[in-house]
Amino acid sequence: MLTLESSYATDLDDQFRIVWEGADVPDPRVILLNAALAAELGLDVGRLGSRDGAELLSGMRAPDGSRPVAQVYAGHQFGGFSPRLGDGRALLLGEIRDSCGRRWDLHLKGSGPTPFSRGGDGKAVLGPVLREYLMGEAMHALGVPTTRGLAALVTGEEIVRQGGPKPGAILARVASSHLRVGTFEYFAARGDDDRVRRLVDYSLERHDPALLEAEDPALELFRAVRDRQATLVARWMGVGFIHGVMNTDNTAISGETIDYGPCAFMDAYDPATVFSSIDRNGRYAYGRQPSVMQWNLARFAETLLPLFDVEDRDAAAALATDEVGRFGPLFLEEWTRVMRGKLGLGDGPPGEVPAGEPAGATDDDARLAGDFLDLMAADGVDFTSGFRALSDVLRGDPGPVRSLFEHGAPLDAWLARWMARLDAEGADRATRAAAMDRANPIYIPRNHLVEETLDAAEEDLDLGPVEALIDVLSDPFTRRPGLGRYAEPAPSDFGPHVTFCGT
Ligand code: AMP
Ligand code: MG
Repeated sequence: MLTLESSYATDLDDQFRIVWEGADVPDPRVILLNAALAAELGLDVGRLGSRDGAELLSGMRAPDGSRPVAQVYAGHQFGGFSPRLGDGRALLLGEIRDSCGRRWDLHLKGSGPTPFSRGGDGKAVLGPVLREYLMGEAMHALGVPTTRGLAALVTGEEIVRQGGPKPGAILARVASSHLRVGTFEYFAARGDDDRVRRLVDYSLERHDPALLEAEDPALELFRAVRDRQATLVARWMGVGFIHGVMNTDNTAISGETIDYGPCAFMDAYDPATVFSSIDRNGRYAYGRQPSVMQWNLARFAETLLPLFDVEDRDAAAALATDEVGRFGPLFLEEWTRVMRGKLGLGDGPPGEVPAGEPAGATDDDARLAGDFLDLMAADGVDFTSGFRALSDVLRGDPGPVRSLFEHGAPLDAWLARWMARLDAEGADRATRAAAMDRANPIYIPRNHLVEETLDAAEEDLDLGPVEALIDVLSDPFTRRPGLGRYAEPAPSDFGPHVTFCGT
């Protein structure tokens, strides 16, 4: 029913992982199953959802071909280096090979303690497991690269957490790999250049096979990761996503969003927004995400210094500085592409827009987008609603956007500038309005809705609300009747939102 490959366990030696097993749990049951993802991966949904499937997806029994391992990694957490983190509550079961021959990691979170648990219990509880599943599906539907939940399970255990006992749960997630910047840092910190080199090759095999034959594979890997991360963070910024814990162990080589702990979507636009209870200094605030990613990439480049194909250490450092420095302009280019899509400029939303913008357009358009953001910040306008309302202006109705802003005159001046810019592109307004509606979601995982649905699941084991929310978020761009509630910002009595890490 589920046959895996185990390249990470077998191609890499025992310094990279510890062969391990999931803990036995009393009554594993699959409570959410991602039928669309299962179908993409060629998996049998019916069997995955059965008792048999639950035993495999809980880690109690290994699927055929699986050699479950806990992966080792290090990481910079809030700026400080931890030389040994690793999977403390997770297991890599192995890799699924899809019909195109691509390998996907199947990974369990909450499968019990491992030698990396550092005093933790190795378990996960239902709320955070559902949160990660829901957030991943929302991001996927928004067109943001992400790991995805294949299944959520309850274990039949009660897990004691602050605030009392909670239902024990496990997330089975799929990612194009679980290689992290922190994986490289683990070996680099030990001066083990041979294993860093091995990791470069393995990463290229998984993600960039065309670069394996490059003259300087380490440099090419760095560039590929940097470019993917520039795209990723630009996409986050475009949907108001705040990761919340951008440590280097949560920065994936694949360029996918990974580890949905304290993440949340911004309501009123304010670049200083932070939701995570542990991020007291706002290190991972919305507006800091690009510079944090550049910092993380600098840590990544440091691990590769001894491998760069240059004459000496100084030359390697100079090369790294230069390559890391390229992140700034690359990010700006990607961000401008995202914002142009949101403003109806060019041919459509990111992903639909071909690379290579018209000369001269970029700086002005970045400024135009930045000025709109400033107006939203000044009036505390909801990020998602503010952008979504713009397409109505092109349909001749500035009412919705005006109703969101306190100050009419600066908004009207900006709208006039924006319309002039659109007209200069000679765009058909109806076509542009439709393209904008594919770039500006109407439904995002609003904090109050996420909270409400997860509470229902944790307290009453009522999965109806979370399933309904996942369903709404699976098509975030199309307005549907009866879903008005899902598009509204939080009621004013919801109060400041605070999120908590992981378990
Ligand atoms: P995270 O904040 O989820 O990225 O986790 C950071 C590190 O803490 C990773 O090494 C995790 O494996 C570990 N960790 C988090 N929660 C637990 C837990 N309940 N038991 C053991 N290890 C944990
Ligand atoms: Mg993590």
